Amino acid sequence: SLVISHLARRFGPTPVLRGIDLAVEQRELIALLGPSGSGKTTLLRIIAGLDWPDAGGLSFDGDDWLARSAGERRIGLVFQHYALFPHMTVRDNIAFGLSVRPRGNRPDRAGIADRVGRLLRFLQIEGLADRYPAELSGGQRQRVALGRAMAIEPRVLLLDEPFGALDAQVRRDLRRWLRGVHDSTGTTTIFVTHDQEEAFELADRVVVMNAGMIEQAGRPDEIYDHPATPFVARFLGLTV
Ligand code: ATP
Repeated sequence: SLVISHLARRFGPTPVLRGIDLAVEQRELIALLGPSGSGKTTLLRIIAGLDWPDAGGLSFDGDDWLARSAGERRIGLVFQHYALFPHMTVRDNIAFGLSVRPRGNRPDRAGIADRVGRLLRFLQIEGLADRYPAELSGGQRQRVALGRAMAIEPRVLLLDEPFGALDAQVRRDLRRWLRGVHDSTGTTTIFVTHDQEEAFELADRVVVMNAGMIEQAGRPDEIYDHPATPFVARFLGLTV
């Protein structure tokens, strides 16, 4: 499991994370939900190894991740505007994820081709294999971006508003698709969103953040039935 303890981060005088405690279990899909500026992206960047906390701990299955580089952690990342390589086909974009794996853990050419083929079929994007990113819709691009992130068989998948730029129907389709992908791979996943409906429909557990702290973490129904703080109730439009 991924264990985050008393994590704190400030930028200059401004505390952005103020003591985050969270344990994410193997196979869990967590939605990090909260208003703009609550610290969601900062937390994700620290987990990914793109930023470091001022205090607190981060470990995965007992291994101290603060002593590990981003590459060693083997994280899959998808952002809202995740730039696929424009000069590479979908197939090559996904293969790229594999070719950057550490030596010793990297399949040979035939192995990569085989893995990419299976991943394209699994993600239901084999029809897009020879297209370039400019020839894809926004939703298709995000499916490919997830494919590239999954190619390395990440220990943890971090998704930061991956469907944020898409229209409502495409978002709904992608939500169902992602839930299916997650159910069959069981990859530990943290999904950042400020879309309440998305969080509650997709996640096993919803973590509501506000001003650098976790207001409440729980199953969607628990949070709906028992919002823990006035902020949660207000944010979700519930009454306490
Ligand atoms: P959003 O939903 O808008 O993406 P968020 O919850 O992801 O918001 P963060 O992006 O983590 O929030 O930002 C939290 C706060 O930290 C914001 O006030 C932001 O301006 C500030 N911040 C983030 N990164 C930096 C940085 N590198 N230097 C200074 N301030 C930063």
